Amino acid sequence: MATTKLNTKQKNQINLSMPVQFLKGVGPARAETFAQLGVETVGDLLEYFPRDWNFVPEPCKIGRMRPNQTVTVFGMVESTDYQSFRRQPLFEAMISDDTGVCRIVWFHGGYLRGQLEPGQIIMASGKVTLYKHQLQMTNPKFFVLDEEHPQSADSFSGGIYPACKGLTSRQIKRVIAPVLDHLNELVSEFYDKGFLKEASLISRKDAFSWIHLPPDEEKLSQAKRRLKYDELFLMQLGLALRRYKVLHFSKAVPCGCTDKIDSRIRKRFPFLLTEDQDSCISEIAADMGKSEPMNRLLQGDVGSGKTVVALYAALLAVANKMQVAIMAPTEILAGQHFLSIERYLKNSSVKRILITGGLTGKKRSQVIKAIGSGEIDIVVGTVALLQSDIEFQKLGVVIIDEQHKFGVAQRAELRKQATPHCLVMTATPIPRTLAMTAFGDLDVSIIRHSPPGRGAVVTRWVNRYNRPKAYEFIRERLKAKKQAYFVYPRITAAEQADEVKAATDEWEQLSKKVFPEFNVELLHGQMPSAKKQQVMSEFRKGKIDVLVSTIVVEVGVDVPNATIMVVEGADRFGLAQLHQLRGRIGRSDAKSYCLLFAETDNETAKSRLEIMIRSNDGFEIAEHDLRLRGPGEMFSTRQHGLPDLKIASIVDDYDLLVMARKNAFEMVSQDPMLTRAEHRNIRRALLKKFGDAIGLADVA
Ligand code: ADP
Ligand code: MG
Repeated sequence: MATTKLNTKQKNQINLSMPVQFLKGVGPARAETFAQLGVETVGDLLEYFPRDWNFVPEPCKIGRMRPNQTVTVFGMVESTDYQSFRRQPLFEAMISDDTGVCRIVWFHGGYLRGQLEPGQIIMASGKVTLYKHQLQMTNPKFFVLDEEHPQSADSFSGGIYPACKGLTSRQIKRVIAPVLDHLNELVSEFYDKGFLKEASLISRKDAFSWIHLPPDEEKLSQAKRRLKYDELFLMQLGLALRRYKVLHFSKAVPCGCTDKIDSRIRKRFPFLLTEDQDSCISEIAADMGKSEPMNRLLQGDVGSGKTVVALYAALLAVANKMQVAIMAPTEILAGQHFLSIERYLKNSSVKRILITGGLTGKKRSQVIKAIGSGEIDIVVGTVALLQSDIEFQKLGVVIIDEQHKFGVAQRAELRKQATPHCLVMTATPIPRTLAMTAFGDLDVSIIRHSPPGRGAVVTRWVNRYNRPKAYEFIRERLKAKKQAYFVYPRITAAEQADEVKAATDEWEQLSKKVFPEFNVELLHGQMPSAKKQQVMSEFRKGKIDVLVSTIVVEVGVDVPNATIMVVEGADRFGLAQLHQLRGRIGRSDAKSYCLLFAETDNETAKSRLEIMIRSNDGFEIAEHDLRLRGPGEMFSTRQHGLPDLKIASIVDDYDLLVMARKNAFEMVSQDPMLTRAEHRNIRRALLKKFGDAIGLADVA
């Protein structure tokens, strides 16, 4: 293999943090180009993995080629021809060696004119076919041989690197190759031999060597597996440490549960709890009984009955003479929570209060005082509660309803104040894979089955041709005293004014032309909060028949008599959002209808609408969403201080993820500070990867 050797000086100092600039063939200018690719040091370079690999099959003489073989041939171009008038234009070359002649065709090969010419020697590699009794290769990979590509299959094998302007894949390859001669000094093993054998993992050094220069496909896949495992393992280790820190370095007040407390709380609920609610409650009660702060995620579809479970947690804290903060992303939702709490707590001596932006002046300072003295048990508000001047006397549990926005930063903020138990509710079903990575430091409780008595929801896709029919259908329901939502898509945050305008225009259209005989009202995010509350309250009371809104309605409204959900421009919503919106209906035993208005020819958009029509299962929909959009869009790992994954995928490498998670959590439970000698390498790698994001420095 022809590689440029490092000079002696470099050899002596090569290490992972050495800038690439000092490598042979890289000067200051090229180092800047490397920097654009995110490669600054030798360590970065080693982790700059190829995006694809070439495996050049065994060279073969033309005379010995047989149909169906995959081969590499070397030959001289005898003639070329471009046939542009065919239905599929094709470029053809006849090549020969001392044993025979072979025809090569490239469909749509017009770009080859001027590139391939008689007299050149080329290497072509691909599958051999028989066409009109003549041997042929179709669309093979090929190279024109020159001094850079001597007649050897080797120089074509190996990685193809993501390139950029000023730096080709081949140039990158030439910089990396000599570095690979120093893997002994550069790469240190994380695990002992026994573990590697047991887990069928190759050494880390081989993995780096083979990912860049794989001898064959089998070894390449072993290299990928090892590097993916390491990446997932480091990520899980970070999560395990973060969790360990929370559990062991902060203390919460235990809120014990007795049978008496339990039955007193349950008396508040006018129904029997479902099996799922019961098991979530016992998990929560077990957590809250400890002096380690609870850190639990409560997942359940909209309407699955999370509020009751959360209220149980709240009342358990109150029974232990502790205070509770319940927080929602918006004032509307906070108000909703407060209302349902009020319903359950009628005639109870538990003191509760809703804090809104409207609470000001003297009244507000009185409330703050009452919270500070511990007089008030339950405080409901938006997440702004945390940033405010409100101080609790003894905060026992914090309940955050995040719907589908996950504010980890806020949770961190909370920890600074005190260390209450923490319960996060989300209505976005999070696929297991995501939950394990993004929320790897949270325990998860799931309500999978909704309480009985919820009506079926029928979902239909409506295009412009059956829109009139849909309007008539809705009219019939409205006449039967049912209510409907009409939701309009968000355009972008910057275009919020347009969003409001779109909804406003539609509202006029609907109220004047389509449903003039009904009361159609508008609700959008930029309305004053008092007005919003008023519209919501009238809708709840049934005084409004049709509620036209922007996405605001998404965040938690509970109006069982509303049985129709129309989503305009449904193709522009994410699946999770559509599912969320659909959860607003089907809240009584009456049959409900979700009508997705969309005009689209886009295949992905269509397949998403079809998933919505076919499935009512939030977890299934979330899995599809994850596959269609990828974790990045669904959920930002950055937000969590987790490094982005370079080679592993949490969707495709689920088995490795499970294994990595198990081993990482085990390692932390045995050696929480990773101070044992055998963990030195992994600890160093971890610090390098996460830096301060997981507070490893404090653990150190
Ligand atoms: P979520 O917060 O998960 O969206 P809620 O807690 O608001 O769901 O519950 C949805 C509806 O189901 C509410 O009207 C609530 O009163 C009702 N509900 C909750 N749990 C039960 C149960 N075990 N049996 C019957 N109805 C229930
Ligand atoms: Mg709710």
